[in-house]
Amino acid sequence: MPDHIARQTLRLLGPPPPNWVPIRAGIDHDVVIVGAGHSGSTFAFALQRAGIARFSVIDAASDETAASLWLTTARMHQLRTPKSLPGPELGVQGLSFQAWYEALYGPEAYAALERIPRPAWAAYLSWYRRVLDLPIRYGVKLLTIEPGDGYFRLHLQSEGAARLETARKIILANGVAGSGYPFVPEVLAALPPARVAHTADRIDFGSLQGRRIAVVGAAASAFDAAATALEAGASEVHLFARRPEIAARPVIACADIPASMTTTPFCRTVSAGPRRSASVTPGRCRRRIRSRGRCADPISTSISPRPGSTRG
Ligand SMILES: Cc1cc2nc3c(=O)[nH]c(=O)nc-3n(C[C@H](O)[C@H](O)[C@H](O)COP(=O)(O)OP(=O)(O)OC[C@H]3O[C@@H](n4cnc5c(N)ncnc54)[C@H](O)[C@@H]3O)c2cc1C
Repeated sequence: MPDHIARQTLRLLGPPPPNWVPIRAGIDHDVVIVGAGHSGSTFAFALQRAGIARFSVIDAASDETAASLWLTTARMHQLRTPKSLPGPELGVQGLSFQAWYEALYGPEAYAALERIPRPAWAAYLSWYRRVLDLPIRYGVKLLTIEPGDGYFRLHLQSEGAARLETARKIILANGVAGSGYPFVPEVLAALPPARVAHTADRIDFGSLQGRRIAVVGAAASAFDAAATALEAGASEVHLFARRPEIAARPVIACADIPASMTTTPFCRTVSAGPRRSASVTPGRCRRRIRSRGRCADPISTSISPRPGSTRG
């Protein structure tokens, strides 16, 4: 059903324009997109529609489920971004999350969604790539880029072997890896590996049952990890923040929060799963959050579980 809507939309849009970029001898690709997350996939669609056909998308992950973070290290139940934000469809509504979701579950179900469930977003992106037939090569990692004379040499690794490809342009859509790497503070680096993990790691939360957990940091991933640990049966979670206050990110501004939802970082930890909930000492809450009756103290660093309500 979603395929039908997308194909009909694409038919009305017309085929992508033929490639107009002159072929340059000795160059493998006009464009290489590094990363097949939602940014890389969207760029691929944009290039298709711009008549730039000789492009290739590479992703270091072994396959689609291991790529990006939606099915790996993101632990929130729902996206933080509002469901109505424009997305990878680039204005082509038949390719939007809403079109996909409504085709599967009906308009009422979409209307009833407050935020997009994380697995649904991953499934939508998977469908988007398939229906657009995006040429993605998984298991191909960019190691270094070397400038040539009007082009680039890309040193790649694939199936353990090094390979070299050339491209006129490169789009870096490699997510967090494009701007840094997981950092474990030096003071913790000497701990045995079983005692410390970064939120970018696949964490075995089941092994934390009954344990007291310290979470360093107090932004989205920290609160997601804290809540997941409590849901998995940790006895206590303590968050440590360098800042004296935790600021809500604009995208999850307090005014945005529906009464039935817990979407700010601190509200999300107030309740943590069907079996357990975390109580946090109320303190300098923002008034609006406190008025929802389920707020945590933004500067509190200590969460202890008690039986009760559910996490949003
Ligand atoms: C906990 C958490 C919650 C988030 N929630 C939201 C949200 O609700 N809404 C939202 O819009 N955003 C959210 N984000 C931000 C989110 O990461 C981005 O919006 C989204 O993943 C960005 O997509 P991307 O395609 O740019 O990068 P990614 O999805 O990170 O994809 C990058 C890809 O590049 C690949 N790659 C990396 N290095 C290389 C290399 N050297 N060679 C080849 N491939 C490489 C990776 O394998 C990966 O598949 C959240 C982030 C976190 C951590």
